[in-house]
Amino acid sequence: MPTVLKNRPVDAPGLWHDSIPGCLDPGPALATDIESDVAIVGAGYTGLWTAYYLKKNNPSLEVSILEAETAGYGASGRNGGWCSGYLSGIEHWLDDPARRDAGIRLQRLMFDTVAEIGRVTREESIDCHFEQSGALEIAVLPQQLERLKTEIENLRRLGFSETDYRWLDAGETGSRLSVDRALGGLLMRHCAAVHPARLARGLSAAVQRLGVSVFEKSPALAVNPGSVRTPNGKVKARNVILATEGYTGSIRDRTRQLIPLHSMMVATEPLNKQQLSEVRFKRRYCFGNLDRLVTYGQLTADNRIAFGCRGSYLFGSGIQSFEPGDPVFNVVRETLLQFFPGLRGVRFSHSWGGCMGVSRTLRPSVVFDRDAGVGWAGGYFGNGVGAAHLAGKTLADLVLGFDTDRVNTPWVNPAGPARRWEPEPLRWLGIRSRARLMQLSDQAEYRGSPLAPVFSKTLDALFP
Ligand SMILES: Cc1cc2nc3c(=O)[nH]c(=O)nc-3n(C[C@H](O)[C@H](O)[C@H](O)COP(=O)(O)OP(=O)(O)OC[C@H]3O[C@@H](n4cnc5c(N)ncnc54)[C@H](O)[C@@H]3O)c2cc1C
Repeated sequence: MPTVLKNRPVDAPGLWHDSIPGCLDPGPALATDIESDVAIVGAGYTGLWTAYYLKKNNPSLEVSILEAETAGYGASGRNGGWCSGYLSGIEHWLDDPARRDAGIRLQRLMFDTVAEIGRVTREESIDCHFEQSGALEIAVLPQQLERLKTEIENLRRLGFSETDYRWLDAGETGSRLSVDRALGGLLMRHCAAVHPARLARGLSAAVQRLGVSVFEKSPALAVNPGSVRTPNGKVKARNVILATEGYTGSIRDRTRQLIPLHSMMVATEPLNKQQLSEVRFKRRYCFGNLDRLVTYGQLTADNRIAFGCRGSYLFGSGIQSFEPGDPVFNVVRETLLQFFPGLRGVRFSHSWGGCMGVSRTLRPSVVFDRDAGVGWAGGYFGNGVGAAHLAGKTLADLVLGFDTDRVNTPWVNPAGPARRWEPEPLRWLGIRSRARLMQLSDQAEYRGSPLAPVFSKTLDALFP
């Protein structure tokens, strides 16, 4: 598995890294050859949770993490802070009667994951502003309301109850959060708002307290079974875990395993009393609407709104660096103001972006080859805050040889040959066409155009 990296990201990460206590100076880099039981590449949630559960289960294990930049530099320090029990692509299992029971078990583990992140962060004194307030999916168009009703009916048929998902009519939605033109909403209770970088940095400190060696500014240049090479030292390890998610495509031989999809975020200044009374958050709900191009926001602990929309894919799986002045952020700001027109005039303090990993099946996986001692997890497709915790805990089980419920779920070592992304230019054409169709579909729905169902059906037919 020879690897060489290209496309190193260079941009500034935004609000979250600007608002963490302590300094962001990198810790020591790997400066010599060492031996470890487990070497983990990447200090985001996947790598850090894997290390955490390895050490919790077996304190005598030697675990090293190699991070190209600083812990939490990637998506884990930049995301929307929805710590959610939703797993991308879970419908693949839930919708098929033959796979349904396994899908429901996996879904229940994802639900538990949210509460467990809350419990562990309390136990480890990680002050990441965790509040399990739930996520509100809000319909603002009749078509969206129909989609939401179908969704809740499906969820009930699958046995999920009011304690998991709650239907809200327009009045109940408005009493929780004042979104313009809200027709109804779905409250997913298994979701917490978090400060993502506080979680990542706090986890990094927690694993170091447990005895994990975290080497920063130590990019893996070659990852092979049994060893990881960095510019100034090599780690020899029986087990090697790749936890580089959106950056995995930068690694030679893995360019078609996960592609980096970018998402952009903005944050307002802390809202004043009058602005808070416009938006009327009853709690720190995570919120979004049902546009096909995903939107996501949260009220932060210091009363800002942090809000994002899904963005771009660069030809050849390049990693995009974002300048805060980029006009692309105008779209994100404008989209937020459509939720809350009363906030027009609010000052925005930050704009940033990041990349998330997407697999060809659009589903995440946890993979471990016991003989080779090599594993990886990722492909969370924008839903990795909760999922990376379950993935890390599962990778720890697999490395330690534990036979748990977690290792017997359908996203672990999926059967059959791994599907890879098409070579360029097919990949770029496919992804861009899908994004364009989604945008046209959203625009047609908002205009009430008779073409809306045509776009919708074309999307479902071409990209099921
Ligand atoms: C803007 C944005 C908003 C999002 N919002 C949400 C949300 O609200 N809720 C949600 O659930 N998910 C969200 N996500 C997705 C979520 O953040 C990710 O799925 C999750 O953080 C992935 O964690 P990870 O540890 O697998 O990867 P990352 O956090 O990306 O960590 C990978 C690490 O590997 C390092 N690395 C890369 N190459 C090398 C190398 N060669 N050697 C050493 N280290 C290397 C990187 O520097 C990075 O620190 C969002 C993502 C983005 C970008």
